[in-house]
Amino acid sequence: MEKWPIGVFASVDAGLGVKLEVARELGVPTIQLHAPARQTRTQENADQFLEKLAEYNIRLTAVFGGFKGESYADIPTVSRTVGLVPPETRAARTQEMKEIADFARVLGCDIVALHLGFVPHDTGDPLYGEVLEVTRDVCDHCQANKQNLHLETGQESADGLLQFIGDVDRGNLFINFDPANMILYGTGEPIEALRKVGKYVRSIHCKDGKWAANPGKEWGQEVPLGEGDVGMENYLRALDEIGYAGPLTIEREIPQEPDRQKAEIGHAIRLLNELKQKIG
Ligand code: MG
Repeated sequence: MEKWPIGVFASVDAGLGVKLEVARELGVPTIQLHAPARQTRTQENADQFLEKLAEYNIRLTAVFGGFKGESYADIPTVSRTVGLVPPETRAARTQEMKEIADFARVLGCDIVALHLGFVPHDTGDPLYGEVLEVTRDVCDHCQANKQNLHLETGQESADGLLQFIGDVDRGNLFINFDPANMILYGTGEPIEALRKVGKYVRSIHCKDGKWAANPGKEWGQEVPLGEGDVGMENYLRALDEIGYAGPLTIEREIPQEPDRQKAEIGHAIRLLNELKQKIG
């Protein structure tokens, strides 16, 4: 398989990605897909989607779970609403995450991913133990489907994430590394973090961001690839060092401005192709 095929984060009817048709127009060979809304996760829709992928010559590399009621408005809201951490929604979302994994299997995809939510930093916190349990539960469901589960990075520091993955203690738990999220959430310098968690990194996002004035207390700003504080050349060099050869999946989370989103992803593709020439 080609090293570092370009990818883009795509959506059908939920999530912040581009439409499949945009991925085709941009000529990208791979996508990650945000899980479609529950009512559209049917066999018929899956068959139609697979036909389109075949026609467009696009390979699906991961399916991301997401849930109704999640909000990324600010950091405290993320903590309250995102992922499998909030206790009020945990049981229902865990069930839905398993359904999403099953839908990914119907799509022939062996990687399922999600934002788990803010894992407590204190491993003695009872909530930490609960989050371990729910993660094992989802990992075991994925294992029965012969799938791996990838945790999107950003909400934990590299050390926190290593501790957590070790404590979950499942062989199919890995990382979807997003360098911009480390900056947006203020959880650490992304290249240094990538080197620390490298052995678990099995998929990645190419996204850029600028540090907030008060990192961790307020949001940083997501910006077009190459214009932020990640440093794309150093990022790709570090990916090379850790032996990552999988897709470079571009994520640009401005679906409310589809023309700008498409133009900026087009620019990101050119930037990544230049860097691939130089480094790859
Ligand atoms: Mg991401």
